[in-house]
Amino acid sequence: MPYVKDVFEYLKRSSPSQTEFYQAAEEVLESLRPLMEKYPKYREHKIIERIVEPERQILFRVNWVDDNGEIQVNKGYRIEFNSALGPYKGGLRFHPSVNAGVIKFLGFEQIFKNALTGLQIGGGKGGSDFNPKGKSNNEIMRFCQAFMSELYRHIGANTDVPAGDIGVGGREIGYMFGMYKKLANRYEGVLTGKSLKWGGSLVRTEATGYGAVYFAKYMLEDRGETLEGKRCVVSGSGNVSIYTIEKLYHLGAIPVTCSDSNGMIYDEDGIDLELLKDLKEVRRERLTEYVKSRPNAKYTPVEEYPEGCNGVYSIPCYAAFPSATQNELNLNDAKTLLTNGCVCVSEGANMPSTLEAVHAFIDAKICYGPGKAANAGGVATSQLEMQQNASMSSWTFEEVDAKLAQIMKDIFVNASTTAAEFGEPTNLVLGANIAGFRKVADAMIEQGLV
Ligand code: NAP
Repeated sequence: MPYVKDVFEYLKRSSPSQTEFYQAAEEVLESLRPLMEKYPKYREHKIIERIVEPERQILFRVNWVDDNGEIQVNKGYRIEFNSALGPYKGGLRFHPSVNAGVIKFLGFEQIFKNALTGLQIGGGKGGSDFNPKGKSNNEIMRFCQAFMSELYRHIGANTDVPAGDIGVGGREIGYMFGMYKKLANRYEGVLTGKSLKWGGSLVRTEATGYGAVYFAKYMLEDRGETLEGKRCVVSGSGNVSIYTIEKLYHLGAIPVTCSDSNGMIYDEDGIDLELLKDLKEVRRERLTEYVKSRPNAKYTPVEEYPEGCNGVYSIPCYAAFPSATQNELNLNDAKTLLTNGCVCVSEGANMPSTLEAVHAFIDAKICYGPGKAANAGGVATSQLEMQQNASMSSWTFEEVDAKLAQIMKDIFVNASTTAAEFGEPTNLVLGANIAGFRKVADAMIEQGLV
């Protein structure tokens, strides 16, 4: 359809060098062709042209002083992409690879993900090129405070509600919340992922990983299969990976890998979850430490991965849970997974599979849960945290977990019925993109040209 192609070409000219954003936009725009053909109203209202442009982009300087008394300067970003369905909502990422294109791709994905949850949340994302690795606790605090000293004027409980992402966990949310409260002189639910001691929600920490496993469970159930007794591979060893591994154990599966940016662990007997939590959540160590306590496990550094591949996906498995970062799973990895009999891929990370890998999964008709559907449990539970803050109540672990499981089921049903409506019942990329887009687009039309 030339119309969709024209918009995509315009995007490339008007936002130069934002490769990750083009990738995310191409995947969504491709999927929308059948919808655009069937319903001309979206074209008449120029929804595609409007939805690819953020409502507001904020770029700011972050000055802070390190432990040696040296002044450091970083870039800060917040993209308020779309507010048709509610306040902007999406995480903050602190990682040296962050740039305008990365934040824009994440914000764009977030619009559709948030729409799929069925909750009233718009899409946004932010972060900084600050590298938290190797920084002292005081340096982390000073950076978070400096970051919030600008961001605070743009956000609010009914305006824009950031959360965590790579490099931003409970500690960083705490420091940012403290600074917001001081500057705004308001104690409100402006951030999610807060500590349980002062406004956080039970299950928020676990939600993205748990949600990705629930999503896999529902995809498999639909085909009469289960995760019980099945060997699974997980990449990453951060928040999403750890709670993916935990939920896999709850469902009787055997997670055998995890990784970080230096290498991977293959633990044939199943990853030692308590050891992993202690290493990553308490001691903040690298995975090389894991094998010191588990001599039967194998550590492989990135340099020794098969050429052009991610070592995690060379381990034969029934299901794979990419949970580290974007484009960590390429076509070679997809082919290896399929050849080794993998029948399910559920993405905890955002856009972890390259477009070629996505096409390979769709063509093979395996259970493939794209990130914007499979990892929506995190943001959905953030919204449950907002609900509890607004009503000054707190729900039990079981209550929140049950709501999360139901939301993941609803997302699966929504994506698969939409996919079937457009003639490709197993294509959840098509189903999730159309279902998410349609909800936002209809709201935009009803709210007029704003
Ligand atoms: P995290 O706790 O900071 O953990 C990130 C993990 O990924 C770490 O093990 C990290 O290893 C690894 N990693 C990061 N960049 C990498 C790279 N370039 N190559 C290899 N490994 C890399 O972050 P997280 O919250 O788990 O987020 C992981 C993914 O899930 C991201 O794509 C994020 O956008 C997505 N996600 C998160 C949430 C959430 O609620 N947290 C919600 C939805 C989606 P190192 O320690 O070596 O850097």
